[in-house]
Amino acid sequence: SGFSQFDLDERILKAIGELGWEKPTQVQESLIPLALEGKNILARARTGSGKTAAFLLPIIQNVVQISSSNEEEAGPYAIFIAPTKELASQIFKLLIQLTSPFPFLQCINFAEMDESNVETMLGEVVDMIVSTPGRIVNAVATKPSLLNNVRHVVLDEADLLLSFGYKDEMEKIKEALPKTYQSIFTSATLNENMDDIKAMLMTGPVVSLK
Ligand code: AMP
Repeated sequence: SGFSQFDLDERILKAIGELGWEKPTQVQESLIPLALEGKNILARARTGSGKTAAFLLPIIQNVVQISSSNEEEAGPYAIFIAPTKELASQIFKLLIQLTSPFPFLQCINFAEMDESNVETMLGEVVDMIVSTPGRIVNAVATKPSLLNNVRHVVLDEADLLLSFGYKDEMEKIKEALPKTYQSIFTSATLNENMDDIKAMLMTGPVVSLK
């Protein structure tokens, strides 16, 4: 497939093939190689652009490598934060499809769980978490070490996260994260509030994709 241009695991390429996708979209073509290099990325991308797979594929690739190595540190290794439950569920659905060749990976969606179930999950081994901001903040309040080993942070529709007034939640999440990790943000616009968006959990130099 056109996806074989990327340095992705054969099993991931097979999962893409099963979705019937023939070639990468524009945002996938530009974002995936940069993300595989570990860059921090702010990408202008709207729903329908293929943005979800653009950030999921390189991160799944890396998390498969981490959890196949004799990694001592516990997960989660990646968190995906979305402004609404609906968006979180879309991310989670594609995450489950793309990780189907890797049954050893544990992925959960806090946005679809009762608070009591979230608490129960905090005792389990988890590789990747999808959530709305509030659920992560509550989870960290219960288990402060939850995000200690996170390597990848995605804010999907970061402009909406900002305009929905999630700044306090973002601060709390930032405090719970380690010093370094890769951040990938998507936003429908890159004109307004760019500094505010970057201040939300971005670390180090950022590549902007317009
Ligand atoms: P998104 O912008 O991430 O919400 O994706 C929009 C839709 O396009 C979703 O239904 C995806 O499953 C689909 N999609 C994503 N990437 C591709 C691709 N390369 N080829 C065909 N469909 C895709």
